[in-house]
Amino acid sequence: MSKTHIAVGMASALAIAQTGSVESCVAAVVGGSVGGIIADCDIHPSRAHKDALAGRLIVVGIAVVALLADWYADAGLCGYLVEHLGVPLIAGVVLFAALTFVGGHTDHRSFTHSLVAMACFCAAVYLACAPLLTYFALGYATHLALDATNKQGIRLLWPLRMEASLGLCHAKGVANKAVMVAGFAAAVLLLAYRLELITPLVPM
Ligand SMILES: [Zn+2]
Repeated sequence: MSKTHIAVGMASALAIAQTGSVESCVAAVVGGSVGGIIADCDIHPSRAHKDALAGRLIVVGIAVVALLADWYADAGLCGYLVEHLGVPLIAGVVLFAALTFVGGHTDHRSFTHSLVAMACFCAAVYLACAPLLTYFALGYATHLALDATNKQGIRLLWPLRMEASLGLCHAKGVANKAVMVAGFAAAVLLLAYRLELITPLVPM
């Protein structure tokens, strides 16, 4: 479900972020959360799919807050975007929007849940904002890995028709809630650690 993907995407990205670097933390929060959820652009947010709508609103909220914090602290990511405003950045944004549009017209868990789509989205992010790439790619990879544990498979090797599924759980089961809570807790603790607000009992 959306919140689980956001939580795990952010936690994974923060696990590889640089300690003491606000810019790296902002990039991890934005890249990890967007990468964690973008594969589900093949679900149309509607009354029937409230989860998809909530997920999108949460990610937009997280990204806005993180970028405002970056701007306020003059951490570097907003500065990078202003400095690199040009054809590659615009091409990256257009490609990202086009992939999201195309993904929205494909079957759920098909094109957008494949390695081909992940590579295309990563290329768009690289063009638009290279510092986000590693975190975005990791967030995307966690989405595919989490969905592959589901009983409903994903077409990881699209355009091939074979489906990848470990058949371990259902999307709305107890496992989903447990992973979501653990993911958000890990994300908050890792963010506090990376921003040097807390020190761990064991060295990281
Ligand atoms: Zn998915």
